[in-house]
Amino acid sequence: MVKIGIVGGGFSGLAVAYFLREHDVTIIESGNALGGLASWIDVPGWEWPIEKFVHHWFVTDKWIFQLIRELGLERKMIIRDTRSSCYYKGEIAELDSAVSLLKFPLLRLLDRLRMGAILALLRLDRNYLKYEKITAYSFLKKTMGKKAFEIVWEPLLIGKFGRDAEKINAAWFWGRVHPRTKSLAYIEGGFKTFIETLSKKIRDNKGKVILNTQIKKITKKWGKFMVDAGNKKFKFDYLVLAVPLHVALELYSFPKEYKEKYKPIRSIGAQYFILALKKQFLDEIYWLNINDKNAPFVVIVEHTHLVDKKHYGDKHIIWVGKYLDYDDPLWKLSEAELLEKIISYLKKINPEFKREWINKSYFTRSKNAQPLMTINYSRHIPKIETPIKNLYLANMNQIYPWDRGTNNAVGIGLDIAKKIEADLKRNKVYRRV
Ligand SMILES: Cc1cc2nc3c(=O)[nH]c(=O)nc-3n(C[C@H](O)[C@H](O)[C@H](O)COP(=O)(O)OP(=O)(O)OC[C@H]3O[C@@H](n4cnc5c(N)ncnc54)[C@H](O)[C@@H]3O)c2cc1C
Repeated sequence: MVKIGIVGGGFSGLAVAYFLREHDVTIIESGNALGGLASWIDVPGWEWPIEKFVHHWFVTDKWIFQLIRELGLERKMIIRDTRSSCYYKGEIAELDSAVSLLKFPLLRLLDRLRMGAILALLRLDRNYLKYEKITAYSFLKKTMGKKAFEIVWEPLLIGKFGRDAEKINAAWFWGRVHPRTKSLAYIEGGFKTFIETLSKKIRDNKGKVILNTQIKKITKKWGKFMVDAGNKKFKFDYLVLAVPLHVALELYSFPKEYKEKYKPIRSIGAQYFILALKKQFLDEIYWLNINDKNAPFVVIVEHTHLVDKKHYGDKHIIWVGKYLDYDDPLWKLSEAELLEKIISYLKKINPEFKREWINKSYFTRSKNAQPLMTINYSRHIPKIETPIKNLYLANMNQIYPWDRGTNNAVGIGLDIAKKIEADLKRNKVYRRV
């Protein structure tokens, strides 16, 4: 039987394995659980685990909702309208709808109307390619006006892309505005429920999931991929590298020109604290952008405004996070030093907040959290096929112009599965019956 290997057990690797589950599939994952960036922490005493980084779905996430239906998980979905606001120089102002924009106190009426018109235009315009020729920085500065740029957009671009903020193209911004909804979705038991249901389907179909196994090198001999994890070795006919792009480029010795072409594509990291608090931190607000480019975090998300706190030992859960490069001074701080900075800033936002409110804190970080979409990025996206026959790539840097997310990771997984399935059919290899 034809053997299909998938290196990486995040959402994209899992999706490939699920859609090809009627063939002989094996996922090899270096971590001790599946889910990649969407994996979780099991906290003793809590009914539900918590994702290491803030995770929710949009109700427009079509691949996820299709899978939810296929897996029979509809009844477990939690769908709620949420509120988003921004914090600027001591003030919290709601900014998540046309009405809230009209009332937005931090800008003059003329600036508010101008911002509303640009956002409406972006929502109506389907041609994103024209926006990739300019940077989001100059597009927003020119179109939204000086005040709106300085108060709303510049701090957010810096918080999301750090030093690289000025390089990001405006199509990325188009992708952020275009499909987003106020209504968000989560699932009972957290993303773990979804991931474990998916992996059970894979295993029930005799698919294999191998954890705690880091692949070090891959070669191809006599048409087979030789996958080397040091003490364990595997052989496959088809191979999907569902790992970060730079890892894929290191694992296989691709032709020099292929490597050189994709090496400049970069991502930056993210660091997050999960804080379990004895008291509510934000009043009804789920998502609070911090519009201060010098703040030690760019966002606070109060998860327990989307999901009932009873699942977390009656604690109020907030994620506090920031995207940054690993040579940023904030990345170099110890966990304790960073927490100190965060606590003092949290006090500015909510003057009643005290360190004693923190019941538990968890620190998570990833070096590969946010791809950088630069000018004319559509010309640089790595394809899912590689120059090596039967070797495929699935990673966040291929998602464009949408911001990376589990929905699009599933979409890429489906595309790869279709290609492999078609190839197998051509070679008269059929699914198990
Ligand atoms: C801060 C943050 C917030 C986010 N919020 C959301 C959200 O709200 N909603 C949403 O849908 N998405 C969100 N995302 C994005 C989402 O998590 C990712 O888009 C998605 O998980 C990417 O999946 P992936 O499989 O492509 O990559 P990854 O999740 O990175 O998976 C790659 C896997 O490969 C494994 N691996 C790496 N090297 C090797 C090796 N040599 N051998 C074996 N295994 C290896 C890794 O351990 C990992 O499990 C967020 C991401 C971040 C960082």
